[in-house]
Amino acid sequence: MRSEELGVRQQATGNGQRTELEVKDSKLNAQHSYLHSRPRRLRKSEVMRKLVRETVLHPSQFIAPIFIHEKREVEIPISSMPGIYQFSLDRALKYIENMQAKEIKSFIVFGIPERKDSKATSAWDERGIIQRANKKIKECFSDILLINDTCLCEYMSHGHCGVIQDSDVLNDPTLEILQKIAISQAASGADIIAPSGMMDGMVAAIRSALDENKFQDVAIMSYAVKYASSFYGPFREAAESTPEFGDRKTYQMDPPNKKEAIREALLDEKEGADFLMVKPAIPYLDIISAVKEKINLPLVAYNVSGEYSMVKAAAQNGWLDEDKVILEMLTSIKRAGADVIISYFAGDVSRITNDIR
Ligand SMILES: [Zn+2]
Repeated sequence: MRSEELGVRQQATGNGQRTELEVKDSKLNAQHSYLHSRPRRLRKSEVMRKLVRETVLHPSQFIAPIFIHEKREVEIPISSMPGIYQFSLDRALKYIENMQAKEIKSFIVFGIPERKDSKATSAWDERGIIQRANKKIKECFSDILLINDTCLCEYMSHGHCGVIQDSDVLNDPTLEILQKIAISQAASGADIIAPSGMMDGMVAAIRSALDENKFQDVAIMSYAVKYASSFYGPFREAAESTPEFGDRKTYQMDPPNKKEAIREALLDEKEGADFLMVKPAIPYLDIISAVKEKINLPLVAYNVSGEYSMVKAAAQNGWLDEDKVILEMLTSIKRAGADVIISYFAGDVSRITNDIR
């Protein structure tokens, strides 16, 4: 028995008046005297918590995805992603205006063409949906950043991210098409080219094509670490890009691999990427953290469609407090090491962080 406890006991028996509770209180007080480190001091009030908050979200570091359909005057709801739409170009402009009011100024644009073929020709057509969208959006808004998804899957009749031969996706012939797409996207006003097909050498190929065509100031945001994930399910409905056969496992990464993520990231950094991306985000926080340690470029995390839809579905059932869960999820992605987050929740960030920043 410790001496202070013994003292308490003796005192208690001495006067005969103290209750058991008083004795316990005295024991606790005695222990407090040597408890110097109290992390709870820094959690005392909201002002204190804000003062020492390590991770803060701001809408300026979010990118909102937009799906632009070639049809006119449409706003087609995506059933698996409540609140997300395929917009015709005119409606997309209104959406961008609304998002600006929510402090979102960076957008990644996905095109949904009416015509698909086996060479993805509408992806680099100067009258293609993305090219027209770039021009129109840049005409209407001066202070925004336009990022273009640079891939073949939305424009290929088979829905794969490259040229197909004998059911195989050919790497090098795909690079030549990616170069054409990147040049036409840059020529129509894209600020950032974002190759997403996980082809080897895609960053180097696009960088040299852009430079040769005097687009040396157009940046590359590489989907460097993109896993073959089941969390993309709702996106495929949104972008109408489900492969007609097979899967994407021969080019997207195998989810159990971590060292390979570092290899992919370092390769793309060396090839001249300006941003590197990890996709998806929530099931790959360890990867975000590991990649962040190894690179010196801004790291982007894509909080993908399945991550969005899970929260929406649970919230619609009243199982989760939507705003609080969104804030906690997005904070975890930032805390893991992401500098920039692409998210279908981008438009919610301003509202949900309003009282904490
Ligand atoms: Zn693709």
